[in-house]
Amino acid sequence: MNISCSNNRRTYNNTFSVDNNLCIICGNQKVLHTSWTDQNPGRRFVKCTNNDCNDFGWVDPPMCRRSTQIIPGLLRRINKMEMELQKSKATKKKMKMLLVGTWILLATVFFYHYIE
Ligand SMILES: [Zn+2]
Repeated sequence: MNISCSNNRRTYNNTFSVDNNLCIICGNQKVLHTSWTDQNPGRRFVKCTNNDCNDFGWVDPPMCRRSTQIIPGLLRRINKMEMELQKSKATKKKMKMLLVGTWILLATVFFYHYIE
C-alpha cells in the first residue's frame, strides 16, 4: 500500500533558525510556532514578535487532506486519554493515603488491644 502526502511545488523555509531570524520588515526577532488548528495540525510557522507587524510564513509544507482529517481526531483522543490518566493518578494517590490511614488505624487498634 502506498501512503503519501502530496504537496505543491512551492518552497518553504524549513531551515528556520531561531538564533538568526530577524524580521525583514521591522527587525524584531521571529519566533517559531506550531499550529494546532484543524486545518494545519502540527504545522510549523514563523511569526514576528512585534504584534503590529504582520510578517508570517509557513515553515512546513501544507498538510495533505487525509492528514487534516485524521490528526485532529487523534489529538482529541490523546487529550481525552491524558485527562483520564490524570484522574487515575489522583484516584491512585487517594487510595494510597486511604491504605496508609487504614494501616495506622489497624496498628493502633492492635497496639491498644495487646497492651490492655
Ligand atoms: Zn516584524
